[in-house]
Amino acid sequence: MLKKVLIANRGEIAVRIVRACAEMGIRSVAIYTEPDRYGLHVKRADEAYSLGEDPLAGYLDPARIVNLALETGCDAIHPGYGFLSENATFARLCEEKGVTFIGPKSEVIHGMGDKTQARDSMRAAGVPVTPGSDGNLADLDEALQLAGEIGYPVMLKATSGGGGRGIRRCDSPEDLKQQYPRVISEATKAFGSADVFLEKCIVNPRHIEVQILADRHGNVVHLFERDCSIQRRNQKLIEIAPSPQLTPEQRQYIGGLAVKAAEAVDYVNAGTVEFLLTGNEVYFMEMNTRVQVEHTITEAITGVDIVREQLRIASGLELSYRQEDIQYRGYALQFRINAEDPKNDFLPSFGRISHYYAPGGPGVRVDTAIYTGYEIPPYYDSMCLKLVVWALTWDEVIARGIRALDDMRLHGIKTTANYYKQILDHPDFRRHDFNTSFVPEHPELLNYSEKRQPAEIALALASAIAAHAGW
Ligand code: ADP
Ligand code: ADP
Ligand code: MG
Repeated sequence: MLKKVLIANRGEIAVRIVRACAEMGIRSVAIYTEPDRYGLHVKRADEAYSLGEDPLAGYLDPARIVNLALETGCDAIHPGYGFLSENATFARLCEEKGVTFIGPKSEVIHGMGDKTQARDSMRAAGVPVTPGSDGNLADLDEALQLAGEIGYPVMLKATSGGGGRGIRRCDSPEDLKQQYPRVISEATKAFGSADVFLEKCIVNPRHIEVQILADRHGNVVHLFERDCSIQRRNQKLIEIAPSPQLTPEQRQYIGGLAVKAAEAVDYVNAGTVEFLLTGNEVYFMEMNTRVQVEHTITEAITGVDIVREQLRIASGLELSYRQEDIQYRGYALQFRINAEDPKNDFLPSFGRISHYYAPGGPGVRVDTAIYTGYEIPPYYDSMCLKLVVWALTWDEVIARGIRALDDMRLHGIKTTANYYKQILDHPDFRRHDFNTSFVPEHPELLNYSEKRQPAEIALALASAIAAHAGW
């Protein structure tokens, strides 16, 4: 078993990994940059080391991190999500220096991180992929010709993209001409690569992804699916497990496809295979070779501790479960509570948390690194808390979600929490009839009033009474 793990990340996911280590008797080492000095991961890990003043450079410096792991006697590095988690160079450096990278082999990260290469491997393995480019596009002319063959609308995508960025829908040749340079520039800035490709745009699809686990002994299992169709600008807001929109046959089929995909590339550790679904068609979209933000809901319905399994797999142990051991029960929802103002085009709202009361009660889990008095630094993701609820039935999980969102008090910054209550309350959501267009098709859900505090309500009542009494 691993003895000491360096966590090359920050925020809630670093805390999540510290927790798994603590339960398994593994020592944890945090890294931080100065703006994160008061971060919870720093306080909670067994040891913590500063990587300098720059808010980001330290988290993105493979050589420095691997050297620190060696100097502090760590046998492994957990990369979390984002940052270096899908950086094949980082994983390779770990391999070369004899530090276990908690994830798949560097070649697999490389092959899957490149979305066109991933599409090739999946096609070869017999997994259906969206119709589109064979490789990267050479130029705009090739893009226009291919789009003409596939038929509009098409999706223009950054080959090394992630986090919902570097993706544009193009509805016509004019649109494509306009978007082409934009996507290239966005891809170059965000991902350091100008490579782009095209695929058919699946209109109003559902985003269904399958969690898989694979050990070094050739065992691969899936932990059922998550429905991440509630998205804004290709970024997930609310995630659901299992999907309330799948039949048992579809569930079994898509779970099998994900296992086939993982086996085809000799995958090891935790990963997610993302698909788009429309009617009865399923298309492979991409594979994320790391723990995902929404792994929590799969944990809620299966009882499997995914980070614990990651640490066990990296220790060389066999999976704790065979496929038939893995069952799911009930439904789970995850709300990504972002420090953003939904009423102001989701503008980031960083600042000091003046007051935070955690939601609680039955079936509620919170993963966060915030606390009262914490100042959210402006340099990182705006997601500041993950609220996860579980219940036996769909109706109950919705009621529980609304109740838990009501429980929570997060003052000092604007958040997406109240907006999510509107989504949960929508009849289409309640009858589990939604796809990735739900959010853009319901701008009216942004017209909610922020819940008033009791003092304000008392004041409003007093003035209403006064008005009636003719004072
Ligand atoms: P998940 O797939 O786990 O739902 P997201 O797509 O929300 O995760 O991404 C999680 C974090 O990782 C975000 O901070 C996102 O910006 C970052 N991220 C994801 N993919 C990449 C990538 N290819 N390059 C850089 N950052 C990425
Ligand atoms: P990322 O690496 O940023 O997560 P993905 O390729 O997973 O990018 O796509 C993110 C989201 O964009 C999907 O969940 C889906 O909503 C939308 N999307 C991507 N490709 C297509 C497509 N071909 N047709 C329709 N929607 C798509
Ligand atoms: Mg994706």
